[in-house]
Amino acid sequence: MMVLSSPSGAGKTSLSRRLLEIDNEIDLSISVTTRQPRSNEVPGKDYHFVDTIDFNLMVNRDQLLEYAKVFGHYYGTPRKPVEEALTTGRDVLFDIDWQGTQQLGEKAPKDLVSVFILPPSWAELERRLTTRAADAPAEINRRMAKASDEMSHWAEYDYVIVNHDFDQSVEKVHGILKSERLRRRRQTGLSDFVNGLKQGH
Ligand code: 5GP
Repeated sequence: MMVLSSPSGAGKTSLSRRLLEIDNEIDLSISVTTRQPRSNEVPGKDYHFVDTIDFNLMVNRDQLLEYAKVFGHYYGTPRKPVEEALTTGRDVLFDIDWQGTQQLGEKAPKDLVSVFILPPSWAELERRLTTRAADAPAEINRRMAKASDEMSHWAEYDYVIVNHDFDQSVEKVHGILKSERLRRRRQTGLSDFVNGLKQGH
């Protein structure tokens, strides 16, 4: 399980989309949220958009691996698709905030790799939030005001990337993913393989 977190507008969503294009062994966990869809968002692809009643039902039925309130709306990770992907040996990418990352980390500390994305500057963060033009000015102000709170969680993550250059950041995230896959404890079946080697196979 690989988590990407960042303050809103640091480029995390674009990074995660590109990573999914270049690596075909990882799937995106599609969250449920009670916030309204943006004009460029596709239900079922970017998020599952639900109302608060359905969200609460999912919480009560223990159908969410983690959930949190962010910018006044609820967001959560459906449990079933993640468990199914992991069971079949696929990796799963999460675009979630620090609260969700903490919850996943408590549940599966050894299976989680967390990456925090920082914007190159405050001005750039503001520029990205404004040019995204997907949110109303009041929402943009709310997100800017929250950004320094969010950024203060950088030290809870395994890796930190300052997103100066998009392509280089993609390379860095992909590098982390590839290295973490090579960790000995993540390579199942190695003892059998080595025993086979020793017997001349
Ligand atoms: P946005 O509204 O911009 O899509 O997302 C707002 C914030 O909510 C982002 O930091 C995003 O990573 C976070 N988020 C999205 N889905 C989830 C989720 O399922 N759980 C948690 N904890 N945070 C989420």
